[in-house]
Amino acid sequence: REYAELSLKDIDQVAKRSFPLCMRHLFEKLREDHHLKHWRSYATGFISQVEVHKSSLGKDVPQFFIMGVGLKLDDALAFWKAEFSRKVGADRFDKEYAYSIRHNYGKEGKRTDYTPYSCQKIISSTPGVGDHHGCPYRHFSLENLRVALAKMGVGGRALEEVIDKTQNRHYQLACTLTFEAVHGASCDAGVNHPNQYYIDSKRIMES
Ligand code: SF4
Repeated sequence: REYAELSLKDIDQVAKRSFPLCMRHLFEKLREDHHLKHWRSYATGFISQVEVHKSSLGKDVPQFFIMGVGLKLDDALAFWKAEFSRKVGADRFDKEYAYSIRHNYGKEGKRTDYTPYSCQKIISSTPGVGDHHGCPYRHFSLENLRVALAKMGVGGRALEEVIDKTQNRHYQLACTLTFEAVHGASCDAGVNHPNQYYIDSKRIMES
């Protein structure tokens, strides 16, 4: 089954509903700061949904998470321009950023393949000061994690179970429990990739 493309107007709502915590955090920071360090990695993900449609959950589960949202090129350009122009100005955006985005859609130059970011890879990364990537279960303080989970609607016993798994360094299990608490449905395969979280979420939400 193929998933509906996402239009720009729905993106905030879908981010809240179906993004795993790592990508939710990234997305919120982008909305707040209008910029991301290492933007290229994330931008690449954001705009390459085409492949998700093609693979339709088959072998090629997509690389960077945000590609799963399914923005078309024009919407992706509009999205990034709206965010980044506030920091760098529209002229610089057009000169320095738009090309990369178009490039990643295969509209300019030769398409580059980017390595998938699985949970394992994200968990073992070391975000520097001011970076917002990383796995919140691994990289947030417990206090911040509690606040973030509460914002996702996870509370009570479910919250304590997530914290327990986190403290025992079972980060992906903590994320799986979060998924189950948020969706009221089981996630038997566990969470191994942010895109998988998103895809499973959409499957439940759209069924
Ligand atoms: Fe993201 Fe994976 Fe961490 Fe969940 S376990 S927050 S999907 S990196």
